[in-house]
Amino acid sequence: MLLYLFVTFRDGIVGVMTLNKREFLKASGLAFTGTMLNPFESGQSAARPGNSRKNWSGNYTYSTDRLDAPATVEEVQAIVKRASKLRALGTRHSFNGIADSTSEQISLQHLDQMALDSATRSVTVGAGVTYGRLAPYIDSHGFALHNLASLPHISVVGGCSTATHGSGIHNRNLSSACSVVELATATGDRLTLSRAKDPQHFAGAVVALGALGIVTSLTLDVEPTYQMEQVVYQNLSFNELGHNLDTIFGSGYSVSLFTDWQHHRATQVWIKRRVDPKQPYTWPQEFYGAKRAMQKLHPVSGHAAENCTEQLGVPGPWYERLPHFRMNFTPSSGSELQTEYFVPREHAYEAILAVERLRDRITPHLFVTELRTIEADSLWMSMAYERPSLAIHFTWKPEWAAVQKILPLIEANLAPFAPRPHWAKLFTLPPATVQSRYERLADFKDLLRQHDPARKFRNTFLESNLYSA
Ligand SMILES: Cc1cc2nc3c(=O)[nH]c(=O)nc-3n(C[C@H](O)[C@H](O)[C@H](O)COP(=O)(O)OP(=O)(O)OC[C@H]3O[C@@H](n4cnc5c(N)ncnc54)[C@H](O)[C@@H]3O)c2cc1C
Repeated sequence: MLLYLFVTFRDGIVGVMTLNKREFLKASGLAFTGTMLNPFESGQSAARPGNSRKNWSGNYTYSTDRLDAPATVEEVQAIVKRASKLRALGTRHSFNGIADSTSEQISLQHLDQMALDSATRSVTVGAGVTYGRLAPYIDSHGFALHNLASLPHISVVGGCSTATHGSGIHNRNLSSACSVVELATATGDRLTLSRAKDPQHFAGAVVALGALGIVTSLTLDVEPTYQMEQVVYQNLSFNELGHNLDTIFGSGYSVSLFTDWQHHRATQVWIKRRVDPKQPYTWPQEFYGAKRAMQKLHPVSGHAAENCTEQLGVPGPWYERLPHFRMNFTPSSGSELQTEYFVPREHAYEAILAVERLRDRITPHLFVTELRTIEADSLWMSMAYERPSLAIHFTWKPEWAAVQKILPLIEANLAPFAPRPHWAKLFTLPPATVQSRYERLADFKDLLRQHDPARKFRNTFLESNLYSA
């Protein structure tokens, strides 16, 4: 029997939850004590008021009101076994329907345990853990991750499921740190796949787009902790970039260029260095003609920089320098759209020029573009699969009517470089084109068939982009 529970969440939103009898009794008991949590709340300030049935940015409304929020792995298994269709929901930071379901979603936010094993240099995290929670925890024990995305607010599992990345010419994406995946498969059974014991299938199981099962935990490689500092330079000519692209992107541990596509230049260059206490470093005042900023900057012109991580060469922990945005503040712009295309790094400058030709169409609808490099990996569905990559990212104003007309133009200009779109962002490439960009797609589909023959974890996004021609 299903029961409906009307609840007032912490942020004042009234919502309805569909629950079975046991869930209802448990939840209503909590509600009467006045401590019911918004089941969508990430526990971080990134959860934006008023968007309880939408994604973080508010541009996408989920197609079901039914959200399960189990407290244990056994409850996850029971829900998976019972459900006919199900999609996992992380912290809702994706911009398209990848996490959507017309039937039922499951949030694992209550599975928030973290266990560090310093002997094996690894940490195992429940699927509810965000990078923002994980990072200070491992740092306090003397460990670090190899990289982070521009924001720490996302869940580790949600990030790894879509091949989320940071920057750095030698840095693979975040999912490359994953060594073990534990999930509930379509039957509700537990499955553990590891890099060491399942070399044949593991490369298909990490960036799995939520299609292999409901991930309950991941184990990640960690390394000794480190300090970092970052400096921003302003106005780097694209001519300099054309002549020195690899050196510029290799000039720090993680380097990001921002541009509005006007005046043939990057408006800002963010260089993040690891601090070597034995070799103090003096940041030059100029960088390929760009001038060092003497005050803190936000990548989007006109936005206050208080939301950004510390700049000006001030050293600090790795997890407070690798992301651009601070944990307890809204990252990026807030109400926005995002798009990103991965092209082979060897064609990076040509690809940048190809997009630049559309500058007068792009700029009026753009907050900012970010250019980053990502090292190649071997994960079948990763955008950087076997390709050292340049990622060309667009943070758009929330103007989808205009943006959806520009995307096909960008995709056409990038076509010679066989771009792979970011799985979690907005794109208009035809499914057949997307599919043709993934050499191991057939192996990935075999893996899905083996573990989910009745297509329990398929949704419209996957049916369209992976299966329709
Ligand atoms: C402001 C902003 C900045 C961003 N910056 C970056 C960046 O620097 N680099 C980058 O690459 N991306 C970036 N992104 C995109 C973001 O990293 C991805 O959207 C990421 O997938 C979000 O994770 P999430 O926890 O919000 O997952 P969701 O968006 O909720 O879900 C994403 C996918 O993960 C799956 N999933 C989640 N939990 C589970 C689970 N337990 N089991 C199985 N599948 C699961 C979902 O089904 C879905 O397919 C940014 C997004 C925003 C809003």
